[in-house]
Amino acid sequence: MAAEKAPKKREFVTVNKSTTKTSTSAEAEKSPKSRATIRRIFAVVLWLVAIAFEALVIFYLNGTLYVSGDQMTLLIVGIGLDLACVVIGSLLWKKANRIDPASKKNKVKFFLWNNMGVIAAVLAFLPLLILLIKNKNLDEKTKKIVTVVAAIALVAAVGLSIDYNPASQEDLEAAQAELGGDQVYWTRWGRSFHLDPDCHTLLNSSVVFQGPIEEAFEANRNDPCDFCASSFGAVDQIEDSVEDVIEGIEDEVFGDADAEDVEGTDY
Ligand SMILES: [Zn+2]
Repeated sequence: MAAEKAPKKREFVTVNKSTTKTSTSAEAEKSPKSRATIRRIFAVVLWLVAIAFEALVIFYLNGTLYVSGDQMTLLIVGIGLDLACVVIGSLLWKKANRIDPASKKNKVKFFLWNNMGVIAAVLAFLPLLILLIKNKNLDEKTKKIVTVVAAIALVAAVGLSIDYNPASQEDLEAAQAELGGDQVYWTRWGRSFHLDPDCHTLLNSSVVFQGPIEEAFEANRNDPCDFCASSFGAVDQIEDSVEDVIEGIEDEVFGDADAEDVEGTDY
């Protein structure tokens, strides 16, 4: 591919929470399980707050709750607050699943655990959306606009809550057993982790992150690279090599823009 190009200047960034004892971050001392649990609790609280906002909007719609002000503005603000809480909750939940993945042994639980955010998103918007569609009190224009806003919010909340790349406890444990404390490498855009810092799919990335395998999983880099981590079994070889090629392209395309934004370096 780009064999003729001069080697690109790359910056290696070490990511390791368990050894960076910045004393102020009490988080570093905590076990992955407890770090994940804190995030899960916050996620559930935020989802409940989101559903509370939805309830307020519904009470406002049916006249139970009176708030003075422009009707459409109030409805859209309510939906916006609902959306913000759902999405932040889901991001925390997904992060928790990366720090402490669910076990694949129970397929139903594994599915539910990885899709809690989607369920919360549906609960936080679908009832409201149905009531909006059925509503007869709002004027046509307000009803139309607010219904479209709520529908977009539902789609956005679900889209941002889906975990597109869920890892399992077994994946993480197998990787930990195989790698121990060895460093792995990943990039801003790629989905894989690499064992070789000079893997050809990493050569075009201006920033390469390195750290133990737990950090790679936490960063949502849980697929072994097909070129330099092919020793990892049980991977769909064809699918993975396609992904790795796409990754290389993504890094080439986006990696440059990235580097310019952050440091404005030359190469
Ligand atoms: Zn690689």
